[in-house]
Amino acid sequence: MVRFDGKVGIITGAASGIGRAIAEQFARDGGHAVIADLDIEAARKAAYEIGKLGPEPMAVAMDVTNENQVEDGVASVAKKFGRIDVLVSNAGIQIVKPLAEFPFQDWKKLLSIHLDGAFLTTRACLKYMYAQKSGAVVYIGSVHSKEASKLKAPYVTAKHGLIGLCKVVAKEGAEHNVRANVVCPGFVRTPLVEKQIPEQAAELGISDDEVVHNVMLKDTVDGEFTTVGDVADAVLYFAGFPNNALTGQSLVISHGWFMQ
Ligand code: NAD
Repeated sequence: MVRFDGKVGIITGAASGIGRAIAEQFARDGGHAVIADLDIEAARKAAYEIGKLGPEPMAVAMDVTNENQVEDGVASVAKKFGRIDVLVSNAGIQIVKPLAEFPFQDWKKLLSIHLDGAFLTTRACLKYMYAQKSGAVVYIGSVHSKEASKLKAPYVTAKHGLIGLCKVVAKEGAEHNVRANVVCPGFVRTPLVEKQIPEQAAELGISDDEVVHNVMLKDTVDGEFTTVGDVADAVLYFAGFPNNALTGQSLVISHGWFMQ
């Protein structure tokens, strides 16, 4: 197991779900976990709990689509801990609707959180990573970085886009010893997915149970959800990898839903 003793990791959207599990595992592995989230109350609560697992964490109020909040938030982390070793760009939302009637506002909102958020947080962290000549950026993509589903046009578009951003960071970052990867989970039972189950049921005219078994998990090899722990392990494997051998790569974790 890789240790992150003395390292500093910013995880966006870490007040809930997958991000929270990554922050918890990072702390258990010895790192200072920075919980950067729109919901500062939830971020503070998460930081309080995560402080029991490892070294001092930090909660930062950050809307990843707001340039000033991202710049100021990242600067406050560097000021407190003196370095930034890992960025996990995880904050995200889901909006499901048929493409033919997708509201432009919703399209822009989703792309902004996933893509502007990834860009702004990456740019802010690279400044510090380049100066210290080391760093790792991990984007939380999705099976939808590689595959499409009905009703998810902006989400599929954004998640494919993260693969492109990752490859550029891998190329530009190499000379500064900065690596980039994408972790692409299948369905994980977090608040984001719990919300989607009744929404998809209504759109498709089927029951919640049918959404879970006949839509979400239909193509897995075993009908199982991916867990937040599975995702955290993969993220920290990439974040702790000791050289550039894996940079620019993406990894799907989906119980066989999508196989490359
Ligand atoms: P979640 O809803 O449990 O948590 C998302 C977190 O992001 C929340 O704490 C929320 O406050 C925060 N957030 C939302 N908008 C933000 C913003 N503008 N700025 C900062 N923080 C913001 O969701 P989750 O399921 O843990 O999803 C996390 C990531 O994993 C997302 O990028 C999602 O697309 C991706 N993902 C999820 C699944 C899944 O099945 N749950 C599968 C593949 C990928």
